[in-house]
Amino acid sequence: MKNWLYMDDSYLKEFETIVKGVSNEKFIILEKTAFFPKGGGVEWDTGLMIRKSDNKEFKVKFTGKFDGNISHEVDQVGLQIGDEVKCFLDWDRRYTLMRYHTAAHVLSGVFNREYDLIMTGNQLTPEKGRIDMNMPEMNVDLIKEGFAKANDLIEKDLLVEIYYKSMEEAKKDSTLFKLAIGFPHDIKELRIVDIKGYDAQADGGCHVKSLKEIGKIVFLEAKNKGKQNRRVYFKIE
Ligand SMILES: [Zn+2]
Repeated sequence: MKNWLYMDDSYLKEFETIVKGVSNEKFIILEKTAFFPKGGGVEWDTGLMIRKSDNKEFKVKFTGKFDGNISHEVDQVGLQIGDEVKCFLDWDRRYTLMRYHTAAHVLSGVFNREYDLIMTGNQLTPEKGRIDMNMPEMNVDLIKEGFAKANDLIEKDLLVEIYYKSMEEAKKDSTLFKLAIGFPHDIKELRIVDIKGYDAQADGGCHVKSLKEIGKIVFLEAKNKGKQNRRVYFKIE
């Protein structure tokens, strides 16, 4: 996905491109984009598109994936195919989501390696994060201990690297798919998010470059959600 710029550079905050498609007047497809579309339990990017010909501003309110394309919902009509635009991400929002996303991988890695628990889902917003864990009985003390271990790991400031692996090669390592739900089978290359020396996952999202950027992970509460499922809420500071 060479035209999905965030895949190779999560720190790209602005870029220039051309409008490639417009549907229902307000849903814009670009030749290339750094806007992350809602997916994998992570919220979408917002921001601004400025048309170069007349400096008219269009706010990007929502970014999603539709029919394999990244679609940007803007706040007003007027953009046409062929328009040249300058685009700016709402960086505070995106960077916070990146910190939450990497934090969720740290938690998943710790609970899996230390306690053999599997994370079955997550929901990440700029305000708080939620992970679901396959845990037979609620054990808040154990959850708190896991959070302390996660913060110890952050203190080590491990690097987070992004690279690609062929599907054939990746299939040999089932640990890469802990969080991966519904990966398409025809995909040739997998993008790997690797907290160096600790936890590697097949993942399509945006992450910080090193763990200290996360800050501190704070446990908020845990709720029972079904027989096996414990829902854990956290925030970052
Ligand atoms: Zn992820």
